[in-house]
Amino acid sequence: MTKIKMTKARKRIMELFKDDCKPLNAEAISQKLNKEMDRVTVYRTLTLFVQAGLLNQVDLRKDSVYYELTSHHHHHIICTDCGVVEGFESCKAEDISEHALKSSHKFKIIRSHSLELFGLCNTCAKG
Ligand SMILES: [Zn+2]
Ligand SMILES: [Zn+2]
Ligand SMILES: [Zn+2]
Repeated sequence: MTKIKMTKARKRIMELFKDDCKPLNAEAISQKLNKEMDRVTVYRTLTLFVQAGLLNQVDLRKDSVYYELTSHHHHHIICTDCGVVEGFESCKAEDISEHALKSSHKFKIIRSHSLELFGLCNTCAKG
């Protein structure tokens, strides 16, 4: 893992993620920072945070990559119509990992997992 220096600007980015479940992409972040940091720097900083294990990439099947804090392990349900995202805590993926390892011929260790579910939210299911 990379050790990184927490500059003021980097701290500001980390603070944007403080809320429990709020996946953000680079565009949302540079908007929130009021162009304090140019987009390229935001991208670079996000990549650095992922390398340092502070942020995870979340695959919401949207056009851009979303990020979230690694410190709070949880999963997501994403509406395929309007894109609304809800986090959920319960995690049975450890069982899946164990099963996967038992049936695997090539792997010895599972280190992490991500699990995102896709469906329709209450509003979109009505339409
Ligand atoms: Zn989340
Ligand atoms: Zn929806
Ligand atoms: Zn999990």
